[in-house]
Amino acid sequence: MIETIKPVTDWKDGVGQVKMIINGESVQAASGKWLSVENPAHKGTDAGQVPKGGAAEVDRAVQAAAAAFPAWRNMPARERGKSLLRIADAIESAKEEFARLYSTETGNAIATQSRNETMQTADIFRYFGGVASEIKGEVIPLGEQLFSYSRREPWGVVGGIVPWNAPLALSALKIAMAITPGNTIVLKPSVEAPLTAIKLVELCNRFLPKGVLNIVTGTGSECGEALINHPTVAKLSFTGSTEVGRNIMRAAAERIIPVSLELGGKSPQIVFPDANDDTTVANVINGMRFIRQGQSCTAGARLFLHESIHDSFLEKLVTKLRAFKIGEPLDDATQMGAIVNETQYNKVVAYIGDGLAQPGAKAICGGLPPKTSPFTEGYYVEPTVFAGVKNEWRIAREEVFGPVLVVIPWKEEAEAIRMANDSHYGLAAFIYTHDISKALRTAHQIESGFVQVNQGGGIVPGNSYGGFKQSGIGREWSLEGMLECFTQRKSVTVNLGY
Ligand code: NAD
Repeated sequence: MIETIKPVTDWKDGVGQVKMIINGESVQAASGKWLSVENPAHKGTDAGQVPKGGAAEVDRAVQAAAAAFPAWRNMPARERGKSLLRIADAIESAKEEFARLYSTETGNAIATQSRNETMQTADIFRYFGGVASEIKGEVIPLGEQLFSYSRREPWGVVGGIVPWNAPLALSALKIAMAITPGNTIVLKPSVEAPLTAIKLVELCNRFLPKGVLNIVTGTGSECGEALINHPTVAKLSFTGSTEVGRNIMRAAAERIIPVSLELGGKSPQIVFPDANDDTTVANVINGMRFIRQGQSCTAGARLFLHESIHDSFLEKLVTKLRAFKIGEPLDDATQMGAIVNETQYNKVVAYIGDGLAQPGAKAICGGLPPKTSPFTEGYYVEPTVFAGVKNEWRIAREEVFGPVLVVIPWKEEAEAIRMANDSHYGLAAFIYTHDISKALRTAHQIESGFVQVNQGGGIVPGNSYGGFKQSGIGREWSLEGMLECFTQRKSVTVNLGY
């Protein structure tokens, strides 16, 4: 029996106090305190407020998820899948509402990012709803007298923690991968961008039994810590920074529970001499995720250009970036919106300052943000490109998580690959050449979990996505990832001669 809950708000541009959803009900924190979510395009204005939840609310949510688990686990997988397909349709119908709220709380441009991410969110539910019946086991041929088979079983209550940079798609991903194989989940979004995540959970709850999907809001140190250390949580799935990922892994180690980690990146884009064209320039811009202000773990933030095309490629790149329309996220003409908050803005500006202070480095586009209106109304930073960068500089090694691309020239293929791999991260990589042998040779030598050849695109549900090295553990986004990370195998053997 599918139960429904009343909408908690009319979501007019996201403004208002929006409660958590626990056991299908709107819940305020016991503390009675609220946390403001700033609209990054309009400094000092609230996009909305969410409860400052902590251990008490986390416990309530985990208990609700644990109570819902037996019935949800026992429902046929295809039936669970049908709920996800209904959710996908409902998201599509509410596309514009989601996109407006998303732009308001994250600062992303509605035309280039918010609508796309809303559609990607629907696609995630549709994909996992579609593969629900593929949660299969195997028969092991131990002889005529033995019937031995394996089955995939859910873990129980999943603790899902997501960052602020893609809160809609990443919340959808944690929810869909957890509940499709029969787990229940408590989701914790970032306090910087919890509104669309709550709206999503509210919508999903219209199609799910009470308690299967719960959302708690609060800071990482109060709410997040309470969730990762809760004794009933049987599996952790975290997307966020490598630093916090270490904490999550420690918490999982204490209770010996499985954990999947999708962490940071500093991904290379390698351009070979035969790809000195406008299409590659457009792909490099896409790969750098400038339309998301560079706030993407997958961003190809290190551009390795062959020295023979270095200057002419950069000329084309800079011409395109200078024409970028930056500004009000809700304006359909805008291509690039605002950085998510003041802390992140200051961090990005500090990295630009650090780059400018390096002898030999040159900001050939962008640089420190303009100090005049309308740029000062929100946390706006222009697309910035540094040429003459050394791969060992801080700006080339650390994740800026802003619209800052560093350019490093190379002569020999082996040198480009060596520099690309010289990073403690290994999330994504982009390779551009018309020579397919060279492209695949490079793709196979790159130490990254997600490689794109001749396109700057992002993840499509069905791609197994995750990092090498300190970019993470486990794979998500795909059927295989879901089976590996969100189910456990049980082996059953029956003696037929008994
Ligand atoms: P973050 O690590 O600061 O926070 C992520 C989430 O963890 C938030 O919900 C936060 O409240 C929570 N958290 C913080 N401290 C916690 C603690 N001690 N215990 C439990 N939870 C805690 O990351 P962010 O600043 O929100 O997001 C940016 C980072 O996310 C970047 O490093 C980026 O690369 C990474 N990211 C990775 C992927 C991927 O798929 N690999 C995708 C998106 C973002």
